[in-house]
Amino acid sequence: MQKVTIRIDPSLCITAANCSGIAPKIFHINEEGLAEVMDGAGIPQGYEHTLEVSDADAELIEEAVESCPARAISMV
Ligand code: SF4
Repeated sequence: MQKVTIRIDPSLCITAANCSGIAPKIFHINEEGLAEVMDGAGIPQGYEHTLEVSDADAELIEEAVESCPARAISMV
C-alpha cells in the first residue's frame, strides 16, 4: 500500500474519460462531465484527494495520468 495525492485540474479536463476507463475505482465523471477522485469506498471526493492505494492501483493511476489527453491529472 502507498499513500498518494491525486489532483485533477478541472479547467483542463475535457471529459475524455480515459481515467475512469482505466481506473474506475479511482476516477468518477461527475454531472458536469469532469473527473473527480474517489475515496476507497467509491465516494467522490472532488478534484484533489489523498488516499491509500495498492501497488496495482498506483500503477493504474500512473497509466491514467499518462493517458489523459489534456494532461489534467497529477499524482504525488
Ligand atoms: S482522462 Fe483527463 S480529460 Fe479525460 S476525464 Fe480524465 S481527467 Fe478529464
